Parts: sequence; structure tokens; C-alpha cells
Amino acid sequence: MKTFKTVRNPSNSRISKVSRIFALILALCFCLPIFSVTASAKSAKSTAEAKPSDLIQVVAEQTGLEPNIDALMEAGYLSAAEKRHLEKYNAFSYAVAWHVLLPAFGIYPYPAEFYPDISPCSSWSNGTVYADARAAGILLGLVDPSIEPNYAISKSDFTALVNKLKTSPKLPILQTDNPYVNAYEDAIASGEAAPWDIHSYRGRNSLLSAYDLIPAGWLATFQSLEYDVHFRLPTSRTPKIPGHTAAGVTNYAEKFIAVENCNPRATLHEFAHFAAKYAGLYVDDMERCYEHESSKVIAIIGIYSSLDFSEYLAEFASYWLLHPNDQSILRELAPETTALTEYLFHVLDYNIPVKTTA
Ligand SMILES: [Zn+2]
Repeated sequence: MKTFKTVRNPSNSRISKVSRIFALILALCFCLPIFSVTASAKSAKSTAEAKPSDLIQVVAEQTGLEPNIDALMEAGYLSAAEKRHLEKYNAFSYAVAWHVLLPAFGIYPYPAEFYPDISPCSSWSNGTVYADARAAGILLGLVDPSIEPNYAISKSDFTALVNKLKTSPKLPILQTDNPYVNAYEDAIASGEAAPWDIHSYRGRNSLLSAYDLIPAGWLATFQSLEYDVHFRLPTSRTPKIPGHTAAGVTNYAEKFIAVENCNPRATLHEFAHFAAKYAGLYVDDMERCYEHESSKVIAIIGIYSSLDFSEYLAEFASYWLLHPNDQSILRELAPETTALTEYLFHVLDYNIPVKTTA
């Protein structure tokens, strides 16, 4: 199992800094004496910022949850970072509005990298939940692509966004060659599976973003053993580190991997556990790597790797796959683990089906 403190989330400080700068610019504008009284009033009306209570109220109305910040966070509509931000400041950004509101209205954004026609924005690059929400918003005509996502959203823009969402826009199903997501979409269409929700869409996005990075031999073995992917975690689960939210689990008895965190690393981590089991790695080898080298790379691959030899290897392998630019430094700091990981990437290759010409 792999846990994460929060969803990939965003530097609040960045949002708050820009929000403060924006507020300062607004304050300066209102001080300029060249506006007539009417113009000033009009300007103040159109640029007043939406308040956190506005956002909480709308999400509560849509979801039937209590209109308080803790209830919305517990249900998954707000991240812990967003909760802290809303409690601290009297405004919030366009990015937060998009990320929180879309799922509340039943729109579950796909990873932004699947929409190459939408130009990414510099403040939230693809691979972040805010880029995902922005891409879905642009696709549905809810979001102006020229808006800077970190600016505080005005009350009038917030109201306009909510009104558009109330017309129930539908996000088109993403066309991919991902067999697990496609099978689930088919099951939804035939009424055999529940539609995507605030939990399952995160697991879906993790698998979508990670899929092409999963070593071919691992996937072939996964398929030949008839494993499945579940897009939400089993209900009974205890995080290995208190305070961390579980991100994924691999169940060998019931043959499935479950993920419920949009970070592609959650999927890669679980697949690494799966591969280590079916590769028949020796515990002695994994323990030796853990004891000799885990402390040298913990600052790069994260604290969860310090838990035990199994989590260390899953964290090392998932980080390696996701961050090719850091592979040389990992190789230098942890040569034994690198050798074991590279062996693991290919040891199951014999399961890759032989392609024949049609
Ligand atoms: Zn794990």
C-alpha cells in the first residue's frame, strides 16, 4: 500500500501570494481618482471577490452535504490544502473554483495531457489536478483559456460559472486504448457499474496517466493472470502511517489492484508490488538494498520508502519510472537498488505475447 499526505497539490503559498498581489492591484485601482463615482461603483461590483462561504454553500447544495468545510473535505470535495487555504484567506482562485466545483456538479475531469489541443498554462502544468480541471472547463466552454488560474475569482465570474454548471454540461468520454478504463466506461453505459464519482475518478486518472509507463512484462503478466484494476479502495483499510490517506492496495488473493489517488505514482507503486511478487525476488536481496541505500535516496523518493524493504522497492521503482531525469542521480546514490529495479523491469518480459502478422 502507498499513502500520500494529500492529492498532488499545489502550493498554497503560490496561490495566496498571487491572490494578495491581485487584491493589492484591485485596491490600487479603486484609489485612482480618475473614475467617476458610477464607474467606481460598477467596477467594485464586478470585481468583488467570491468568498469561501459562497463556494461551500454551492458545493453543499449540489452534494447534499452539510455546508461546512470539514464535511466537504471528508467527502473528498476539498483537499486538505484547499481547506487550509479557504480558512486562511477571504478569497480563492479560479483554479480552486474549477477543481472543487466541477466534481460537485458531476463532472470528473480526465488528465489534461490527454487533450493535446488545449494549450497548457504555465502556472499549473499538466500533471496537476488544476490543469485537469482547467482542461475540462475549456472543453465544456466553462473556462476562458486566457484566464490566469491563480487570480482570485470574482463574485460575478463565480456566479456565471455556477449558472453554466447548472445547465448540466456533460464531459465527453475520453477515447483511449486503456482496456481497464474502457471496460469500466462500458460497464457504466450498460448500468453494470456505478458512474464515476469523487473517489473513483481519481483512481481512473492515476491509471490513465501511468499506463504507458508500466513495463510491458508487468502488464502482460497482470493480464495473463487475469488481474483487474479497481478504481476505488476497499472500505476496510488502515494507513500504515497515521495521518496519511491510503492511495492504493494490491490484493493477491482476489487478484486486483485498487487505486484511489490521481497521482500516477499510486498505480506504478502497486504494479511494482505486483511485479516483485511474481518476479520471485529474494527477500534477502530487497532487504540488503533497503539497509544499504534507502537512507541515501529518501530525500528524493519520499519518506514512505523508509517503511520497509517492500515499500522501499515500490517507491524506488515508481519514482524511477515517473522521473527519467532523476534516474542518473538514483543510479549514483543507490547502485544496488538500481540493479535490482532494472532486473525487475524486465524479468517478466517472457510473458509478453508474441505478435504475429495479420
Ligand atoms: Zn505499498
